[in-house]
Amino acid sequence: MDHKPVNHCICVCWRYNLNPGLSFASRPFLIPYFCASILTSSMIHNFNAGPSILPKEVFEQAAAAVLNFNNSGLSILEFGHRTPEFTAVMEEARNLVKVLMQLDDNHEVLFLHGGASTQFMQVPMNLLDSKDVAAYADTGVWSSKAIKEAKLFGKPEIVCSSKDRSYTYIPKDFAVPNDAKYLHITTNNTIYGTQWQNIPHTSNSMVADMSSDILSRELDFNAFDLIYAGAQKNMGAAGVNLVVVNKNILGKIKRPIPTIMDYRNHINEGSMLNTPPVFAVYVCLLTLRWLKAEGGVSEMEKRNTQKAGLLYDEIDRNTLFRGTVEKADRSKMNACFVMEDTSLEPAFLAFAKTRNIAGIKGHRSVGGFRASLYNALPLSSVQVLVDAMQEFEDLNKK
Ligand code: PLP
Repeated sequence: MDHKPVNHCICVCWRYNLNPGLSFASRPFLIPYFCASILTSSMIHNFNAGPSILPKEVFEQAAAAVLNFNNSGLSILEFGHRTPEFTAVMEEARNLVKVLMQLDDNHEVLFLHGGASTQFMQVPMNLLDSKDVAAYADTGVWSSKAIKEAKLFGKPEIVCSSKDRSYTYIPKDFAVPNDAKYLHITTNNTIYGTQWQNIPHTSNSMVADMSSDILSRELDFNAFDLIYAGAQKNMGAAGVNLVVVNKNILGKIKRPIPTIMDYRNHINEGSMLNTPPVFAVYVCLLTLRWLKAEGGVSEMEKRNTQKAGLLYDEIDRNTLFRGTVEKADRSKMNACFVMEDTSLEPAFLAFAKTRNIAGIKGHRSVGGFRASLYNALPLSSVQVLVDAMQEFEDLNKK
């Protein structure tokens, strides 16, 4: 599914309908023709790892709101964030997260500036004093970056690592020190295509970076004291972070925390301590509404399982391709694979492009291919990729 032509079409329609000063408006009969020609142009199957595919209706509604938010005649980009209309957006988005994740009353939902990388430092800044130990699972680049930041505020201890085999598996047996303030895991490792299928049971607080699998599967989210996720994969536009935090773990350290970094201040101000990233929050709201209407997290899990099953079955069957991670730890969000004969990889990429498949080039540190299967990606796009792999196999039969 390609949303870009649809977006473009809607923007053009709105723009020229709303602004009579533009010459296109004097020739409105051209608009349907223009839209139709864009709509019938190529349909792209978007496997990008992030920013990534969102539902078509989210793009349509977001595009409309850029031109006319809530029938106000104003763009959402020029709308005051303290107005009742935007406050309602923020409140609905926070409530929808609570409902979709079935959070209890101890858990607060915040939409904060910055990517997930900001949380690498904001988490230890709020939870650790300088002598406090925190346990970290090292499952790739993103957890390593989180560990690096934690060193600025406390004593992170790496309790397990899959570095020995290039992060191609999830560590299984490890112990967490009793005195560790929390155990931090990265639930889905976007670059390598591994995912924690079983969340570790520990008496310590659990903190998770869920940037690339948030709202993609059912978990006991209340078992986590802090969850963070950059929105740009499964939730919305880049520029905003979802933070879910158990308020009971806050306020336990002595270090002064800068006002804007202290989660408690954001909670007290209803996630409106300063100007929020209004458009990014609005796109999250639209995506959350879509997710609920489609059947919620359980339905997403069902779809994601089906999509991942279809693709991994083909990776395992096809003589040209091979998965790169341990089967039990395969991610349902990012499927990583290579070719047995790596010299064929550029040819397959070019072949996939002729089938309108975009975004499957693997991360530079892993190589090969990575197909991201986020919530909004339809099963039909995965089928197109599988068909392309089969055709390419036929073409390359010795
Ligand atoms: N954590 C994970 C699991 C990611 O996949 C990413 C980015 O892809 C990040 C953190 C960093 O996110 P950001 O670029 O929003 O800071």
